[in-house]
Amino acid sequence: SAPVYYDDDADVSTIETETVAVLGYGSQGHAHALNLNDSGIDVIVGLREDSDSWAEAEDAGLRVETPDVAAAAADRVVMLVPDTIQPAVYEAIKDGLEAGDTLQFAHGFNIHYGQIEPDEDVDVTMVAPKSPGHLVRRTYERGEGTPGLMAVYQDATGNAEAEALAYAKALGCTRAGVIGTTFQEEVETDLFGEQAVLCGGVTEMVKAGFETLVDAGYAPEMAYFECLNELKLIVDLMYEGGNMEMWNSVSDTAEYGGLTRGEEVINREGMEEILEDVQNGEFAREWINENQANRPSYKQYRAAEQSHQVEQVGGELRKLFAWDDEEEASEEVPADD
Ligand code: NDP
Ligand code: MG
Ligand code: MG
Repeated sequence: SAPVYYDDDADVSTIETETVAVLGYGSQGHAHALNLNDSGIDVIVGLREDSDSWAEAEDAGLRVETPDVAAAAADRVVMLVPDTIQPAVYEAIKDGLEAGDTLQFAHGFNIHYGQIEPDEDVDVTMVAPKSPGHLVRRTYERGEGTPGLMAVYQDATGNAEAEALAYAKALGCTRAGVIGTTFQEEVETDLFGEQAVLCGGVTEMVKAGFETLVDAGYAPEMAYFECLNELKLIVDLMYEGGNMEMWNSVSDTAEYGGLTRGEEVINREGMEEILEDVQNGEFAREWINENQANRPSYKQYRAAEQSHQVEQVGGELRKLFAWDDEEEASEEVPADD
């Protein structure tokens, strides 16, 4: 099973003489830049000249340069622009990667599928919080952290792993635990999970359940509550205490019905095909081509999803829940944004 690293396994002083270029100031970028800076690391944020984020990063007390200037000045370049943009940004910054420098990612897609091919004298690593950036920042400010992943793809210096762990500590992730993995495992499990279970699987199950009830003549409002709204209550229980916490909390009737009938809706062969396409690179090829063609299918799928009846019904019903939003907003206003 996978190794897990905590604060005691990492030493921030390993990277304390480094200058770190954080490319991008979005979800991950702002959190990495601010946490590293607060941990005493010299940070330069890399942004396009016309970027709206430029002033925001400077107002937060950070130095900002264009990506090529930031990378040339840095010993560690952290790619935190969108994955589809990274190959182009890499072309603009690669001359700034000298022998012994590190190119670091938060997701392995472009390395694993060969869209970025760094020189052999550069370390290539991954430090990936398993959490959106605003939580990476907020938990750090509270003295806590979010769990993360760490991987080494190329170790030119012999120090790649120790430095990646030092970075993970400066980011706050070793406070919660950092799992050692590989680029291949991170990419393949990430793509499979979001396609088969988290994003693709769940939305298809919700729509299919909703349509089955509505087609049988039940009220769309009832179908929405049963098949979408209540999902959150179920998932919260699973998140807190696993499947058993959920089974223990629902009625015995729900438990018996679920345990005996759930498997009927799962297509395991379909799941295996999804995994195969991830492993053999078929999905990656399709997505890269889709982007090069300006995303024609993506736009169609998105429009169809937008016009699905579950969206229309949900849009109306969620207005009834406005009090819920206000309560959450007042509880969770982050200090930094
Ligand atoms: P975002 O979409 O939030 O990043 C946007 C940032 O990239 C902005 O600062 C934007 O600049 C900048 N940017 C966009 N295009 C360019 C360009 N052409 N040149 C320079 N900068 C550009 O990305 P995320 O933080 O979501 O993702 C970054 C990486 O982290 C990805 O590899 C992702 O897979 C990974 N990751 C993301 C997680 C998440 O929760 N979001 C979790 C774990 C990993 P501007 O401000 O000017 O718009
Ligand atoms: Mg450099
Ligand atoms: Mg993902």
